[in-house]
Amino acid sequence: MKSFDDLLNAPRGLLVAGAAVLCVTLSFLIAASDLDLTLLRRLQTSTIGDGGTVVYTTYNPLAILGVAAIGLAVIGGLAGLFFWLMPKLTGAAGGQPTDRVVKASRKLDGELSKVLELIRAHVTTNDSYAKSLATAQSRLQGLTEAEQVRVIVSLLVAENERMRRDSTELVKNLEDARKQVETLRSSLNEAQEFVLQDPLTGVGNRRAFDATMARAIVECSQKKTPLSLIICDIDHFKRVNDAFGHQVGDEIIKMFSRVIEAGIREGDTVIRYGGEEFAIILPLTDQDAAKMVAERVRRVFEGKKLTIRETNQKVGQLTASFGVAQYRPGDDVEALVQRADAKLYDAKSGGRNRVSVYGTSD
Ligand code: GH3
Ligand code: MG
Ligand code: MG
Repeated sequence: MKSFDDLLNAPRGLLVAGAAVLCVTLSFLIAASDLDLTLLRRLQTSTIGDGGTVVYTTYNPLAILGVAAIGLAVIGGLAGLFFWLMPKLTGAAGGQPTDRVVKASRKLDGELSKVLELIRAHVTTNDSYAKSLATAQSRLQGLTEAEQVRVIVSLLVAENERMRRDSTELVKNLEDARKQVETLRSSLNEAQEFVLQDPLTGVGNRRAFDATMARAIVECSQKKTPLSLIICDIDHFKRVNDAFGHQVGDEIIKMFSRVIEAGIREGDTVIRYGGEEFAIILPLTDQDAAKMVAERVRRVFEGKKLTIRETNQKVGQLTASFGVAQYRPGDDVEALVQRADAKLYDAKSGGRNRVSVYGTSD
């Protein structure tokens, strides 16, 4: 028996593919909802003993199959979405999801319950419809009077009409549910971004760091490509805060993050690792190339001239120090971070405003 955790850890591709197939099936069925549902029932005639004709409908299992397929598609889509997103939100986020994620997940649960309720109600209606048909059919047997047959057939036609209305209603409700799922999907995506983002700078946070590094290490080990990590930290930042206040400090942190973002290429990731400390993950980059990136960022940052608009005060030169390390086979995230951190420490103790990289002697 599989546990819930096992399910969450099941091959994600399979779940996503399953969900996609089911969603496509649902979309197709709904797009085709202008099909005349009465076609799914059989209206048959047969000749009875004295040459009279009896018209009767038989319950068509295709109707139930169609409804069940729609239902399964919606449930499958919801479940696929749920299983696909949950590991990202809980696993990749590496901790408690925020209130926004919890709320979005609850909404999704609520929507799933609604769809289940819809299908349960429809199956009950189907049962009662089948019973009505069975009763009518047994009453038809042995009837010879044309008037009596006419009454029973009218009842069957009315019953048919009720079933048609119910089916149309069900298709409409399922279509509403599909739209609701789309909305939830995008709010879950937003919530996921929110969970992985640093609110001050908009770059990734520590959760994003863990997830991105784990992925990058797997990829570079499999493809045997280089991977480098830069950890950088604004120099004497406490002094800046003390002299100009926390708000100015915050603006400087934001500006530093923008300088870093402008200095990297697509595929690299900037993370706010701590207060005024940032990490830059550079896939497909060896330490010499990473050193050049760090040097570029360092130079641009030291060249920034900041003035506080309200007071016209000059902030003075700002600098930052950088430690660079390249992934070595067998490294885990912690080992790589430790080596980049050790180099940052070297840069600080070597006088700050510099980039420190491992040499051949290290
Ligand atoms: P060093 O050159 O050795 O890095 O010196 P430093 O003063 O920058 O280093 P330290 O780590 O001692 O101080 C960092 C300061 O950054 C302390 C803390 O008050 C401040 N800080 C941390 N997070 C924030 C933040 O979000 N906003 C602001 N304005 N300041 C922060
Ligand atoms: Mg600092
Ligand atoms: Mg620091």
